[in-house]
Amino acid sequence: MFKFTILIIEDEKNIQTFIEKILKKQNYKVLFASTGEEGLNLIRSQCPDVILLDLGLPDMSGNKIINEVRTWTSTPIIVISARTSEREKVRALDQGADDYITKPFGTGELLARIRTSIRHSNKLTTLDSLYIRPYHFAGLHIDFDKREVLLNDKVIHLTPIEYKIVSYLAKNSGKVMTYSSVISNVWGPYADDDNKILRVNMANIRRKIEINPAQPKYIFTEVGVGYRMQDDSMDCENGIG
Ligand code: CA
Repeated sequence: MFKFTILIIEDEKNIQTFIEKILKKQNYKVLFASTGEEGLNLIRSQCPDVILLDLGLPDMSGNKIINEVRTWTSTPIIVISARTSEREKVRALDQGADDYITKPFGTGELLARIRTSIRHSNKLTTLDSLYIRPYHFAGLHIDFDKREVLLNDKVIHLTPIEYKIVSYLAKNSGKVMTYSSVISNVWGPYADDDNKILRVNMANIRRKIEINPAQPKYIFTEVGVGYRMQDDSMDCENGIG
C-alpha cells in the first residue's frame, strides 16, 4: 500500500515522539531530523510528501530551511512553533510555508493540517488548472466556472471584489491565507498593504453568507495573520456532502 511520507524536523524529543505516535497510527511513514542540516539532507534524499518544521532548531533557523527548500520544491511545509508571535507566522507563510500549527496542539488539528496540505499539493500536480471542483460545505456552494455562490440553494449577490476574496479563500480552503496574500491576489501585487479595505469587504461578505457574522461558520479570522476558510473536504470524508 502506498504511504505518504512525513518528515518531522524538530529537536524536542517529546514532541517528536508525540507526533510519531499520532502519524504512525494513521499509517503515515514517518522520518525524523533533529537538526536543520539533517532535515535538508532528508528532504533531498527522501522527497517527503509533507514537512513538519520547528522554527527554533539548534543549528539554523527554520526560516532558513523554508527559503532553501523553496528554491527547488513546492513540498508542503507546516511550521510547528511554540512562538505565538503573529509576525513569526506571517513571515514563515510569506516565505513559502503552507501553514502553521502552534504548540501545544491537538491530534485532530495536526491531522487536519496534514490532510489539507496533501490535498492541495495533489491538486497542483494532478488536476488541470482549468478544472477546479466546486466548493461545498454545509449549505454554502461555490461554482468557480459559473462564478456563482449559493447559500442553501439561494443565489448570493457578491460584488466582483467580494467574489474574488471568497473564491481565493475557497480554492485554498483549510489553509490560512495571510492578509497580504489575499490583498495581492485580489488587488494586484502593487496594492497598498493596508488591511482596512479587506476588513470592510470581509464584513460585507460575512453579512451575506454567515447566519451570525460574529460567529462565522465559513470564514475564520486568524488574528494578526489572515483568514482561513472552512475546509470543505471534511464534508466528503464524513459522507455528508
Ligand atoms: Ca526547537
